[in-house]
Amino acid sequence: IAINERLYVYQEGQDKVHLRKLKILRSLKEALQKDDGQLQMYYQPKMNLRTGEVEKSEALIRWFHPDDGFIPPDLFIELAEQTGLIGLVTAWVISRVLDDQARLKRDGIAMQVSINISAQDLSDDGLKFLIEQKLQQNNLEAHDVCLEITERDMMTDVDKSLALLNYFRERGFQISMDDYGIGYSALSKLAQMPLNELKIDKCFILKLATQKDDQIIVRNTITMAHELGLSVIAEGVEDLESKDWLREAGCDYIQGYYLARPMACDALVKWLDEFKTA
Ligand code: C2E
Ligand code: CA
Ligand code: CA
Ligand code: CA
Repeated sequence: IAINERLYVYQEGQDKVHLRKLKILRSLKEALQKDDGQLQMYYQPKMNLRTGEVEKSEALIRWFHPDDGFIPPDLFIELAEQTGLIGLVTAWVISRVLDDQARLKRDGIAMQVSINISAQDLSDDGLKFLIEQKLQQNNLEAHDVCLEITERDMMTDVDKSLALLNYFRERGFQISMDDYGIGYSALSKLAQMPLNELKIDKCFILKLATQKDDQIIVRNTITMAHELGLSVIAEGVEDLESKDWLREAGCDYIQGYYLARPMACDALVKWLDEFKTA
Protein backbone atom coordinates (compact mmCIF):
# COMPACT_ATOMS: atom_id res chain seq x y z
CA ILE A 1 0.00 0.00 0.00
CA ALA A 2 2.82 2.37 0.90
CA ILE A 3 4.37 1.99 -2.54
CA ASN A 4 1.05 2.52 -4.23
CA GLU A 5 0.44 5.66 -2.26
CA ARG A 6 3.81 7.02 -3.20
CA LEU A 7 3.16 6.15 -6.83
CA TYR A 8 -0.14 7.93 -6.64
CA VAL A 9 1.42 11.08 -5.22
CA TYR A 10 4.10 10.95 -7.88
CA GLN A 11 1.47 10.54 -10.57
CA GLU A 12 -0.53 13.45 -9.25
CA GLY A 13 2.57 15.66 -9.19
CA GLN A 14 3.36 14.73 -12.78
CA ASP A 15 -0.17 15.48 -13.87
CA LYS A 16 -0.01 18.92 -12.29
CA VAL A 17 3.22 19.74 -14.09
CA HIS A 18 1.76 18.42 -17.31
CA LEU A 19 -1.40 20.48 -16.93
CA ARG A 20 0.58 23.61 -16.19
CA LYS A 21 2.65 23.08 -19.32
CA LEU A 22 -0.48 22.56 -21.41
CA LYS A 23 -1.96 25.74 -19.98
CA ILE A 24 1.16 27.75 -20.80
CA LEU A 25 1.20 26.42 -24.35
CA ARG A 26 -2.47 27.23 -24.87
CA SER A 27 -1.98 30.76 -23.55
CA LEU A 28 1.12 31.22 -25.69
CA LYS A 29 -0.75 30.21 -28.83
CA GLU A 30 -3.49 32.65 -27.87
CA ALA A 31 -0.98 35.45 -27.22
CA LEU A 32 0.58 34.88 -30.65
CA GLN A 33 -2.79 34.89 -32.40
CA LYS A 34 -4.24 37.90 -30.57
CA ASP A 35 -0.96 39.85 -30.69
CA ASP A 36 -2.47 42.17 -28.07
CA GLY A 37 0.74 43.37 -26.45
CA GLN A 38 1.32 40.43 -24.10
CA LEU A 39 4.34 39.50 -26.18
CA GLN A 40 6.98 42.15 -26.69
CA MET A 41 10.50 42.36 -28.01
CA TYR A 42 13.20 43.83 -25.81
CA TYR A 43 16.68 44.80 -26.94
CA GLN A 44 19.95 44.60 -25.04
CA PRO A 45 22.81 46.76 -26.32
CA LYS A 46 26.27 45.36 -27.08
CA MET A 47 29.42 47.46 -26.84
CA ASN A 48 32.44 47.35 -29.11
CA LEU A 49 35.34 47.23 -26.64
CA ARG A 50 37.82 48.78 -29.05
CA THR A 51 35.77 51.88 -29.87
CA GLY A 52 33.52 52.03 -26.80
CA GLU A 53 30.58 52.40 -29.15
CA VAL A 54 27.26 50.59 -29.07
CA GLU A 55 26.71 49.15 -32.54
CA LYS A 56 24.62 46.05 -31.97
CA SER A 57 21.85 44.60 -29.84
CA GLU A 58 20.23 41.27 -29.06
CA ALA A 59 16.48 40.84 -29.42
CA LEU A 60 14.93 38.99 -26.45
CA ILE A 61 11.27 38.06 -26.21
CA ARG A 62 9.18 39.10 -23.21
CA TRP A 63 5.80 37.74 -22.18
CA PHE A 64 3.60 39.71 -19.79
CA HIS A 65 0.58 37.51 -19.16
CA PRO A 66 -2.56 39.43 -18.05
CA ASP A 67 -3.24 37.03 -15.12
CA ASP A 68 0.04 35.24 -14.46
CA GLY A 69 2.38 38.22 -14.91
CA PHE A 70 5.86 37.92 -16.35
CA ILE A 71 6.70 34.49 -17.76
CA PRO A 72 10.45 34.07 -18.40
CA PRO A 73 11.53 32.95 -21.90
CA ASP A 74 13.65 30.16 -20.43
CA LEU A 75 10.36 28.58 -19.39
CA PHE A 76 8.15 28.93 -22.45
CA ILE A 77 10.76 28.83 -25.25
CA GLU A 78 11.84 25.35 -24.25
CA LEU A 79 8.20 24.23 -24.09
CA ALA A 80 7.56 25.75 -27.50
CA GLU A 81 10.62 23.93 -28.85
CA GLN A 82 9.41 20.61 -27.49
CA THR A 83 5.97 20.93 -29.03
CA GLY A 84 6.64 22.47 -32.42
CA LEU A 85 5.17 25.85 -31.52
CA ILE A 86 8.59 27.50 -31.80
CA GLY A 87 8.13 28.08 -35.55
CA LEU A 88 5.23 30.43 -34.82
CA VAL A 89 7.21 32.17 -32.06
CA THR A 90 10.23 32.70 -34.32
CA ALA A 91 8.01 34.01 -37.13
CA TRP A 92 6.43 36.50 -34.72
CA VAL A 93 9.84 37.52 -33.39
CA ILE A 94 11.34 38.07 -36.84
CA SER A 95 8.40 40.08 -38.03
CA ARG A 96 8.42 42.33 -34.96
CA VAL A 97 12.20 42.73 -34.79
CA LEU A 98 12.57 43.67 -38.44
CA ASP A 99 9.75 46.24 -38.12
CA ASP A 100 11.58 47.75 -35.13
CA GLN A 101 14.83 47.58 -37.07
CA ALA A 102 13.26 49.55 -39.94
CA ARG A 103 12.03 52.14 -37.46
CA LEU A 104 15.52 52.54 -35.99
CA LYS A 105 16.95 52.95 -39.47
CA ARG A 106 14.38 55.66 -40.26
CA ASP A 107 15.51 57.43 -37.07
CA GLY A 108 19.07 57.32 -38.37
CA ILE A 109 20.18 54.62 -35.97
CA ALA A 110 22.38 51.98 -37.61
CA MET A 111 22.46 48.96 -35.34
CA GLN A 112 22.81 45.33 -36.14
CA VAL A 113 20.23 43.22 -34.34
CA SER A 114 20.68 39.58 -33.43
CA ILE A 115 17.81 37.11 -33.29
CA ASN A 116 17.80 33.82 -31.37
CA ILE A 117 17.10 30.88 -33.66
CA SER A 118 16.03 27.42 -32.52
CA ALA A 119 16.83 23.99 -33.94
CA GLN A 120 13.53 23.49 -35.73
CA ASP A 121 13.87 26.87 -37.43
CA LEU A 122 16.87 25.38 -39.23
CA SER A 123 15.09 22.26 -40.42
CA ASP A 124 13.24 23.79 -43.38
CA ASP A 125 13.40 26.81 -45.69
CA GLY A 126 10.49 28.65 -44.07
CA LEU A 127 12.85 30.81 -42.03
CA LYS A 128 14.80 31.81 -45.14
CA PHE A 129 11.71 32.97 -47.06
CA LEU A 130 10.29 34.80 -44.06
CA ILE A 131 13.47 36.74 -43.36
CA GLU A 132 14.01 37.61 -47.03
CA GLN A 133 10.42 38.80 -47.35
CA LYS A 134 10.64 40.98 -44.22
CA LEU A 135 13.99 42.44 -45.31
CA GLN A 136 12.57 43.43 -48.67
CA GLN A 137 9.39 44.87 -47.13
CA ASN A 138 11.44 47.01 -44.78
CA ASN A 139 14.31 47.95 -47.08
CA LEU A 140 16.87 46.30 -44.84
CA GLU A 141 20.17 44.63 -45.69
CA ALA A 142 21.36 41.18 -44.70
CA HIS A 143 24.20 42.63 -42.63
CA ASP A 144 21.61 44.41 -40.43
CA VAL A 145 20.77 40.98 -39.02
CA CYS A 146 22.73 38.43 -37.00
CA LEU A 147 21.42 34.96 -36.25
CA GLU A 148 22.35 33.52 -32.85
CA ILE A 149 22.36 29.75 -32.94
CA THR A 150 23.52 27.12 -30.47
CA GLU A 151 25.38 23.92 -31.13
CA ARG A 152 22.29 22.09 -29.95
CA ASP A 153 20.38 23.73 -32.79
CA MET A 154 22.59 21.89 -35.28
CA MET A 155 21.76 18.44 -33.94
CA THR A 156 18.34 17.81 -35.52
CA ASP A 157 19.43 17.68 -39.16
CA VAL A 158 23.08 18.62 -39.53
CA ASP A 159 23.16 18.69 -43.34
CA LYS A 160 20.01 20.77 -43.68
CA SER A 161 21.11 23.18 -40.93
CA LEU A 162 24.54 23.63 -42.50
CA ALA A 163 23.03 24.25 -45.95
CA LEU A 164 20.75 26.93 -44.53
CA LEU A 165 23.49 28.56 -42.50
CA ASN A 166 25.75 28.60 -45.56
CA TYR A 167 22.98 30.30 -47.49
CA PHE A 168 22.59 32.98 -44.79
CA ARG A 169 26.34 33.46 -44.55
CA GLU A 170 26.77 33.88 -48.31
CA ARG A 171 23.89 36.36 -48.39
CA GLY A 172 25.77 38.48 -45.84
CA PHE A 173 23.91 37.74 -42.62
CA GLN A 174 26.08 37.48 -39.52
CA ILE A 175 26.07 34.19 -37.66
CA SER A 176 26.98 33.87 -34.01
CA MET A 177 27.55 30.71 -31.98
CA ASP A 178 25.50 31.34 -28.84
CA ASP A 179 26.01 29.80 -25.37
CA TYR A 180 29.53 28.78 -26.28
CA GLY A 181 31.19 26.50 -23.73
CA ILE A 182 28.10 24.84 -22.27
CA GLY A 183 26.38 21.74 -23.55
CA TYR A 184 27.53 20.10 -26.73
CA SER A 185 30.85 21.76 -27.42
CA ALA A 186 32.13 19.83 -30.40
CA LEU A 187 35.21 21.75 -31.42
CA SER A 188 35.39 19.74 -34.64
CA LYS A 189 32.08 21.20 -35.75
CA LEU A 190 33.07 24.74 -34.94
CA ALA A 191 35.55 24.92 -37.81
CA GLN A 192 33.01 23.53 -40.31
CA MET A 193 30.33 26.02 -39.46
CA PRO A 194 29.97 29.31 -41.35
CA LEU A 195 30.38 31.52 -38.28
CA ASN A 196 31.40 35.15 -37.79
CA GLU A 197 31.26 35.25 -34.04
CA LEU A 198 31.52 33.22 -30.91
CA LYS A 199 29.49 34.21 -27.88
CA ILE A 200 30.94 33.05 -24.58
CA ASP A 201 28.19 31.95 -22.22
CA LYS A 202 27.55 34.05 -19.16
CA CYS A 203 28.38 31.21 -16.77
CA PHE A 204 32.09 31.89 -17.54
CA ILE A 205 31.66 35.66 -17.33
CA LEU A 206 29.49 36.44 -14.29
CA LYS A 207 32.34 35.96 -11.76
CA LEU A 208 35.19 36.59 -14.17
CA ALA A 209 36.85 39.30 -12.08
CA THR A 210 37.58 36.88 -9.23
CA GLN A 211 37.58 33.36 -10.73
CA LYS A 212 40.97 32.24 -11.97
CA ASP A 213 39.54 29.17 -13.74
CA ASP A 214 37.03 31.24 -15.69
CA GLN A 215 39.82 33.61 -16.69
CA ILE A 216 41.88 30.75 -18.10
CA ILE A 217 38.94 29.38 -20.08
CA VAL A 218 37.89 32.78 -21.41
CA ARG A 219 41.42 33.87 -22.35
CA ASN A 220 42.02 30.66 -24.29
CA THR A 221 38.61 30.79 -25.94
CA ILE A 222 39.33 34.30 -27.19
CA THR A 223 42.69 33.19 -28.61
CA MET A 224 41.15 30.15 -30.30
CA ALA A 225 38.24 32.13 -31.77
CA HIS A 226 40.55 34.80 -33.16
CA GLU A 227 42.79 32.18 -34.72
CA LEU A 228 39.70 30.68 -36.37
CA GLY A 229 38.90 34.14 -37.73
CA LEU A 230 35.93 34.75 -35.44
CA SER A 231 35.12 37.77 -33.34
CA VAL A 232 34.24 37.24 -29.68
CA ILE A 233 31.46 38.58 -27.52
CA ALA A 234 31.02 37.97 -23.79
CA GLU A 235 27.50 37.95 -22.32
CA GLY A 236 26.66 38.48 -18.66
CA VAL A 237 29.15 41.30 -18.02
CA GLU A 238 27.88 42.83 -14.79
CA ASP A 239 30.75 44.96 -13.50
CA LEU A 240 33.50 47.31 -14.60
CA GLU A 241 36.26 44.91 -13.49
CA SER A 242 35.02 42.19 -15.85
CA LYS A 243 34.65 44.67 -18.69
CA ASP A 244 38.23 45.93 -18.19
CA TRP A 245 39.57 42.39 -17.90
CA LEU A 246 37.83 41.40 -21.16
CA ARG A 247 39.18 44.42 -23.02
CA GLU A 248 42.69 43.60 -21.83
CA ALA A 249 42.20 40.00 -22.96
CA GLY A 250 41.26 41.15 -26.46
CA CYS A 251 37.54 40.38 -26.36
CA ASP A 252 35.74 42.30 -29.13
CA TYR A 253 32.25 42.95 -27.69
CA ILE A 254 30.42 42.83 -24.37
CA GLN A 255 26.78 42.54 -23.41
CA GLY A 256 25.39 42.61 -19.88
CA TYR A 257 23.82 44.50 -17.01
CA TYR A 258 27.00 46.56 -16.62
CA LEU A 259 26.10 48.27 -19.89
CA ALA A 260 22.30 47.94 -19.87
CA ARG A 261 19.42 45.56 -19.28
CA PRO A 262 17.19 44.49 -22.15
CA MET A 263 14.57 47.19 -22.91
CA ALA A 264 11.73 48.03 -25.27
CA CYS A 265 12.52 49.68 -28.61
CA ASP A 266 11.37 53.15 -27.47
CA ALA A 267 13.51 52.90 -24.36
CA LEU A 268 16.48 51.81 -26.47
CA VAL A 269 16.20 54.90 -28.66
CA LYS A 270 16.24 57.11 -25.53
CA TRP A 271 19.04 55.10 -23.94
CA LEU A 272 21.22 55.40 -27.05
CA ASP A 273 20.64 59.13 -27.10
CA GLU A 274 21.73 59.49 -23.47
CA PHE A 275 24.64 57.12 -23.99
CA LYS A 276 25.98 59.23 -26.84
CA THR A 277 25.77 62.51 -24.95
CA ALA A 278 27.13 61.04 -21.70
P1 C2E B 1 20.41 33.71 -24.23
O1 C2E B 1 20.22 33.68 -25.71
O2 C2E B 1 21.67 33.13 -23.69
O3 C2E B 1 20.23 35.24 -23.79
C1 C2E B 1 20.97 35.87 -22.77
C2 C2E B 1 20.21 35.92 -21.46
O4 C2E B 1 21.04 36.50 -20.45
C3 C2E B 1 18.95 36.80 -21.50
O5 C2E B 1 17.99 36.20 -20.64
C4 C2E B 1 19.44 38.11 -20.90
O6 C2E B 1 18.41 38.92 -20.37
C5 C2E B 1 20.38 37.59 -19.84
N1 C2E B 1 21.39 38.57 -19.45
C6 C2E B 1 21.91 39.59 -20.17
N2 C2E B 1 22.85 40.26 -19.50
C7 C2E B 1 22.96 39.65 -18.29
C8 C2E B 1 23.78 39.89 -17.12
O7 C2E B 1 24.61 40.80 -17.07
N3 C2E B 1 23.59 39.05 -16.07
C9 C2E B 1 22.69 38.03 -16.09
N4 C2E B 1 22.56 37.26 -15.01
N5 C2E B 1 21.90 37.78 -17.17
C10 C2E B 1 22.04 38.58 -18.25
P2 C2E B 1 16.45 36.10 -21.05
O8 C2E B 1 16.05 37.32 -21.80
O9 C2E B 1 15.69 35.73 -19.83
O10 C2E B 1 16.42 34.89 -22.09
C11 C2E B 1 16.73 33.58 -21.68
C12 C2E B 1 16.90 32.68 -22.87
O11 C2E B 1 15.64 32.52 -23.55
C13 C2E B 1 17.86 33.21 -23.92
O12 C2E B 1 19.18 32.94 -23.51
C14 C2E B 1 17.41 32.44 -25.14
O13 C2E B 1 17.94 31.14 -25.14
C15 C2E B 1 15.90 32.35 -24.93
N6 C2E B 1 15.24 33.43 -25.69
C16 C2E B 1 14.98 34.71 -25.34
N7 C2E B 1 14.34 35.36 -26.34
C17 C2E B 1 14.23 34.48 -27.36
C18 C2E B 1 13.66 34.55 -28.69
O14 C2E B 1 13.14 35.59 -29.15
N8 C2E B 1 13.71 33.40 -29.45
C19 C2E B 1 14.28 32.25 -28.96
N9 C2E B 1 14.29 31.16 -29.78
N10 C2E B 1 14.82 32.16 -27.75
C20 C2E B 1 14.79 33.26 -26.95
CA1 CA C 1 21.34 34.58 -27.43
CA1 CA D 1 20.24 30.66 -26.56
CA1 CA E 1 23.60 32.19 -22.86
